Parts: sequence; C-alpha cells; structure tokens
Amino acid sequence: MSDCLFCRIVAGEIPATLVRESERTMAFRDIAPQAPTHVLVVPKDHYPDVAALSAQPALLAELVEQAHQVAADEGLGERGYRLVFNTGADAGQTVFHAHAHVLGGRALGHLA
Ligand code: AMP
Repeated sequence: MSDCLFCRIVAGEIPATLVRESERTMAFRDIAPQAPTHVLVVPKDHYPDVAALSAQPALLAELVEQAHQVAADEGLGERGYRLVFNTGADAGQTVFHAHAHVLGGRALGHLA
C-alpha cells in the first residue's frame, strides 16, 4: 500500500534504522523510543493489525521469533522485555500496519 508508512519503510522509500530482517519480516528502531530498546517488528506484507495477521499463523510465529531475537541481540534475553501489539483505537494504535513493539532496557512497571 503506497500510502502506508511501514510499507514505505519496507520498500526503502522512507529511511529507518534496520536492526534485523528475515524473509517475511523487518525490524527497525522506533523513531520516538519509549525505552532504551524500542524496536518495531513488522511483516513485509501489509496487514492492518495483529488481528488480521493472526489469519497467517506461520507469519505471526516468524514475527514473534524475530522479536525474541531482537531482544536477545539487545542483551534483554535474561532481564526480560515487553512485546506489545497495539490494536485499534482504545489501544492507541496510530500506524495501521501490524507491528510488535519490543521494549526493554529499564524496569517497565505494570501495565495500566
Ligand atoms: P502504534 O502507536 O502502536 O501504532 O505505534 C506506532 C509507532 O510507530 C510509534 O511508536 C511511533 O513512534 C512509530 N513511528 C512512527 N513513525 C515512524 C518512523 N518513520 N520510523 C520509525 N518509527 C516510527
């Protein structure tokens, strides 16, 4: 989708700091990090949110595996990290291309 921000990042049309790539996913640093590590992992194909992505369980599993590898590469494997999929308006989703936030590097506290 030409008007989707993350599709344009995947296509190389908008710059991003790439940290990892697999056959069907890409991971890049969030432009406004909320923690010392804040990486977004996205499917290269367009799905509006994780609910839509759940219809492709193998791809969703690949995305979660890549998120874990990002956390491990960032040194978070032992101390832990948070994996977040904001989905829809009440969750505050702002980019409607499915993405997992990998957050860590500080104590993140409890969810609201
Ligand atoms: P969400 O609110 O869950 O939809 O998350 C969207 C995320 O995308 C936010 O954390 C933004 O900071 C991040 N973001 C927006 N534009 C960019 C960009 N050009 N490169 C990297 N991250 C971005």
